Amino acid sequence: MPQPILNDDSPLLCSNCFEDEGLRIDANKIGHELSEECPNCKSTDGKKLTQKLIKGLAWRFFVSGTTIRCEYGAAPVIQCNEHHYGKSDIRPSSWLEADIKLIEGAAKIGFFHYGPRLWMIGEVEPLKDLQNESSRGGIIEQVLQEYPERSIASGTKFYRLRVNPNNPADPMQYDSPPLEFSGNGRLDSSELSVMYGSQDIDVCIHECRASTDDEIYVATFKTEKELRFLDLTQILEEDNTEFESLDMAIHMLFLAKSHSYEISRALAKAAKLAGYDGVIYPSFFSLIRTGGHPFETSYGLSLRRFHPEREKYADAYTIRNFALFGHPLKTKLVKTESINRLIITQVGYQGHFGPVEY
Ligand SMILES: [Zn+2]
Repeated sequence: MPQPILNDDSPLLCSNCFEDEGLRIDANKIGHELSEECPNCKSTDGKKLTQKLIKGLAWRFFVSGTTIRCEYGAAPVIQCNEHHYGKSDIRPSSWLEADIKLIEGAAKIGFFHYGPRLWMIGEVEPLKDLQNESSRGGIIEQVLQEYPERSIASGTKFYRLRVNPNNPADPMQYDSPPLEFSGNGRLDSSELSVMYGSQDIDVCIHECRASTDDEIYVATFKTEKELRFLDLTQILEEDNTEFESLDMAIHMLFLAKSHSYEISRALAKAAKLAGYDGVIYPSFFSLIRTGGHPFETSYGLSLRRFHPEREKYADAYTIRNFALFGHPLKTKLVKTESINRLIITQVGYQGHFGPVEY
């Protein structure tokens, strides 16, 4: 069937076309500033939207905007694509009805309720085996075999943040806490102290949930010798499905909340036993910091697995944190370069909007 000729750059709608305030604001953020009249609403000061921008707006508002996190994984309630053009079956709020018609017509797409593929919401065999204490050990052994060792060169710089330390000028205050205070984090337990660090200060701020009321200090460390890490941010080459994927299991594990910590703690203890100095793991805040969308899919296939440049794709959305086992300052694995007070003047989140009912 011949496609209608459409100039990619011609504006079809503008931010003033929409009734929904969230949609107007999101459109205003991404639209082009052009003085010409909007072909739809005739406004001159709305930000103009090409077909490509309208598709992007639709995805952000209706797909990303209806994504629900599960215990493990996440999935959107609504999807849109060209196959459903003219067949939309969602039931939005009344003030969105006309907006949706405009978007459908301009982008030639339709909206529908999405029944997620079950792996997206945690139906991943190795992940289920990790949750089950009797099968956990076997999967952890597999993790130790499949994930690579990564050496960090002597002299590598990283940061560690502390909120309200007793004596902020004392470098030892920035070592791992003693065992009796361990066991609250993703990888530390009552048997293993862990020093968390990152090369991204903003991530440190997010990870310790610091607020403007806190006294915050940041220590800059350098490694004193080459250190051996188990690298859990590596993408595994696999030829199985998402349902059987160890890569997906670990990816989901580190994006899950505190109910998952007993698994990651067991993994840390096993890595220590295997002789590693620590683990490199994906930050829980990777997605917020890089603007990624969890478990992004195209037709139900994980882009993490099938993106043509999958390494680059995953790389762009992963922030690597370090966890060093034991007390690395006391045992001289790392040394303090400097300590600074950190003044937070703004804790900002960037966001976009989504619908309230569908
Ligand atoms: Zn308009």
